[in-house]
Amino acid sequence: MQAVGGGPRQPDYDLVIVGAGMVGISLALMLARQGHNWRVLIVEARAADGDASAPNFDARSTALSSTTQQIFQQLGVWQGLQRHASALDCIHVSDRGYPGITRITAADAGVDALGYVVENHHLSAQLARQLSEKKIDVQRSSRVSSVTLGPEGVHLSFAEEALPLSAKLLIIADGANSKTAASLGFETAVKDHQQAAIVANVGLGKAHNGVAYERFTALGPMALLPLSAYRGQPRAALVWTQPSERAAATMQLSDADFLAALQDQFGYRTGLFCHVGARASYPLITALVAEQVRSRIALLGNAAHSLHPVAGQGFNLALRDAASLATTMGRARAGGQDFSSIRVLERYRLAQSADQQQVLALTRGLPAMFTPRSSGLIAGRNVALMLMNVAAPLRRRFAHLGMGHLQADLDV
Ligand SMILES: Cc1cc2nc3c(=O)[nH]c(=O)nc-3n(C[C@H](O)[C@H](O)[C@H](O)COP(=O)(O)OP(=O)(O)OC[C@H]3O[C@@H](n4cnc5c(N)ncnc54)[C@H](O)[C@@H]3O)c2cc1C
Repeated sequence: MQAVGGGPRQPDYDLVIVGAGMVGISLALMLARQGHNWRVLIVEARAADGDASAPNFDARSTALSSTTQQIFQQLGVWQGLQRHASALDCIHVSDRGYPGITRITAADAGVDALGYVVENHHLSAQLARQLSEKKIDVQRSSRVSSVTLGPEGVHLSFAEEALPLSAKLLIIADGANSKTAASLGFETAVKDHQQAAIVANVGLGKAHNGVAYERFTALGPMALLPLSAYRGQPRAALVWTQPSERAAATMQLSDADFLAALQDQFGYRTGLFCHVGARASYPLITALVAEQVRSRIALLGNAAHSLHPVAGQGFNLALRDAASLATTMGRARAGGQDFSSIRVLERYRLAQSADQQQVLALTRGLPAMFTPRSSGLIAGRNVALMLMNVAAPLRRRFAHLGMGHLQADLDV
């Protein structure tokens, strides 16, 4: 970065975000809203938003916490998303074959809704729309091939024809198993759960009435999330966790056999399952990068932490991370500090550390607690579910954990 006149030249961008997933785009929108004239470029490997093979444009749905909904409201994303969203009025937790159940309601938490469920393709469409309205630069069909650190910033080269460029800060948000992070020596602790989550939309025999079901079975946890009706047909988004080999076999079943197996595991709380849409299967890992920031580099989203989907927290946590990072950067810029310095980035990491640890503990603990079938554990957790069903303060605590508190002093 040497200018013709001799002095150091300004980097091309303030920041380059690698990955136009839900997290990378959200961070760019948060910064655009701040009014600090951030010069932002997003680099994305895929060709277009509507690429049906993209991980953010598949059959999945996402349970958005009420905090996420508030952030999206601020970003102008919620306004177009609302009509596609189903409110979560109640979370019904049960243990297959045992009596313990608990219901956590919006009333317990003193809120209108515990959260909302949206199909990922609607969410991606609204994020892409805001991206183009805010005129944020996106370089598509482009993969970073090398990153070098210089005194004034980060230099990036690309595998494709795109010209090399420089930025003060590099945000790595290119999803789980990030190649960009690995190439820079970031180490990821990975736990392979030897499980896969089968995802599909299913037609229900009865209206779901805003209830999300979390059911623990000997095979693993299953979730049924309320979706908006399709041509009058009540629908839900299924996330069905099974041991990897069993999941592979379940994926091969005919629709009729799949629905029969589902009915057997889930029961009849939503009537007879009558339809199943496209199925997809995701291998489940928990991955955590301990070193999420370095001077001029920060990791976000699945690149920083991939969670078991049991509690629907991965994206919600990543969005709070992004909000915290954007706030920290904005304040540094307003105060004339170098927003890409390790001092500032470390401030962000410290601010989010407790939130990340709490959510990780929840998503690690829940499947472990409900998977072993030893009689002592079964009795213990059924007592816990029954207790929770009658103890409003316990339910309220759980509800607030799931909703994901936003620190009051974030500027989003
Ligand atoms: C079955 C399942 C259910 C889930 N349900 C929920 C839920 O209900 N609630 C919740 O909060 N979370 C949920 N999650 C988690 C959530 O999906 C993730 O947290 C979220 O998708 C992470 O988004 P991301 O932007 O970090 O990564 P991604 O969505 O993976 O995006 C990464 C982007 O980077 C691009 N990319 C990759 N490599 C490169 C490269 N080298 N150069 C440029 N671009 C690149 C990719 O093309 C992609 O567009 C669920 C996950 C699963 C598996």
